[in-house]
Amino acid sequence: MAFYKIKPITVLSQKGTGQLAQSVVDRAIITVLYAAGILEEYDRLFNSTVGNYVFQKTNFNPRPHISKARRESIVAGHLNASSLLYSIKDDASRSKEERYDVTLVTEPLHWHNDSSRSVGGVGLENYGAVVTYSEVKQLLRPVNGEDNRTAEENEDSISSLYLLMLTMHELGHIFGLFPYSGPANASDEDLKQAHCQNECVMYWTFNEEMLKKIRGWPFCPSCLAKLKEFFLKP
Ligand SMILES: [Zn+2]
Ligand SMILES: [Zn+2]
Repeated sequence: MAFYKIKPITVLSQKGTGQLAQSVVDRAIITVLYAAGILEEYDRLFNSTVGNYVFQKTNFNPRPHISKARRESIVAGHLNASSLLYSIKDDASRSKEERYDVTLVTEPLHWHNDSSRSVGGVGLENYGAVVTYSEVKQLLRPVNGEDNRTAEENEDSISSLYLLMLTMHELGHIFGLFPYSGPANASDEDLKQAHCQNECVMYWTFNEEMLKKIRGWPFCPSCLAKLKEFFLKP
């Protein structure tokens, strides 16, 4: 089988991002690559040890871009998500190597210059995504000595499930699922229509009930087929 669009995946994290959140993001990437049928190909191309999936951590510091997204925010206490996405994408100081960037931030996000809508993330087809774990941060970062839960219990908690599904959703957008082309100031209904209508990680929003339903099999059959197609050379 001939694949294409296989590019290294770089995970960029805002300072202060917890290890648990980062491991959830890694798990989301692995799950999506596996679902897309290309995990072995990634392993062959980018990792020396089978089963040891380490995505590129880079010395590239997203901090100046995060500051810019804070300055360009139109909602107090939020970062401008699209500003951040494009600012990192267009950074001329980085190598010209093709890649997918996944940026994890701790601050809340709003959508873009003309929309104050709060979002968990944004994803751009064939390039990358920005994801926030601001809503789940408290639950994901146990305070020393004040939390009896083990790391695994935290991994399984509803908050890390939310971050896992949110990251998978944005990866779905990167890999060609439902790229948004509707109005810039979309209503809930616009966004709902622009996403998968099934019980699926590509549904436009999540609640706890949905998260629990899709945890075992996040992509519906239609999205799964499209996801595989994205990487298959025609
Ligand atoms: Zn979406
Ligand atoms: Zn779907």
